[in-house]
Amino acid sequence: MKTDILHLKNIHHFFPAPTRSGELEALRVPELTVQKGEFLALTGPSGGGKSTLINLIAGFFHPTQGTIYKEDKEIQGAGPDRVVVFQKHALFPWLTAFENVAYGLRRQNISAKEIQERAEHALAMVGLLPFAQAYPASLSGGMCQRVALARALILKPDILLLDEPLASLDTATRFRLQDEILELWKTQNWTVILVTHQLDEAVYMADRIALLYPPPQGLAQIFTVPVPRARNRNDRQLKQLTEQLANMLGADCSEN
Ligand code: ADP
Ligand code: MG
Repeated sequence: MKTDILHLKNIHHFFPAPTRSGELEALRVPELTVQKGEFLALTGPSGGGKSTLINLIAGFFHPTQGTIYKEDKEIQGAGPDRVVVFQKHALFPWLTAFENVAYGLRRQNISAKEIQERAEHALAMVGLLPFAQAYPASLSGGMCQRVALARALILKPDILLLDEPLASLDTATRFRLQDEILELWKTQNWTVILVTHQLDEAVYMADRIALLYPPPQGLAQIFTVPVPRARNRNDRQLKQLTEQLANMLGADCSEN
């Protein structure tokens, strides 16, 4: 049976306006429900509030108005059940891949032996065990994003929040990591929210795609991807949906 894991209700988020006094409405989501195990993509023009939404679900700050529920409890702050992977991998350059991955467990009451096992397991899952002792500066962009993924999965989150994690990678690496993330999603029982500007990525990976525009429009439409898995990147329906979304977003850009 399908159960809801996230429910956002009447969200408005404001930041102080940069140039004048007053406030800027950064995000508007009248209503959004995400099911447990769902893969939701979030796309739309820059400045639409996508990162703000990710940060609110992560619990880094509270919405100015409205409420975000995780399994009927209001989200009050950050927690290991909701982990974010950012576009810039934010690894500590002075720590090895292994130490970066283990870092999240060091502050918990876990034995050194268990930390070692879990960090090695997480690195093995992203194919980087041979690079456990390498420093980020000696790894490629794709490998650093794999370390960032391993650092997220070691915490065993319910909800994985991906804020354009593949945006700076070349196409071949991006495709490979898309498939690796889909594989992990299947085995880890994650609920995933992926922010992406790549519409082909959104339609290939997601169950549903939400379009988020700057307020007053806000979260405007949600599309269900009508293609069963495993998907073929060249599927005609996927291409049609990509084109439909591109037209919608293109039309929106030209209005501004
Ligand atoms: P997106 O990720 O869709 O590009 P963001 O969530 O980063 O959009 O930003 C939404 C709006 O909020 C933008 O106008 C941005 O300038 C503004 N904003 C984001 N973070 C802050 C902040 N910390 N302080 C002030 N304004 C912000
Ligand atoms: Mg953003």
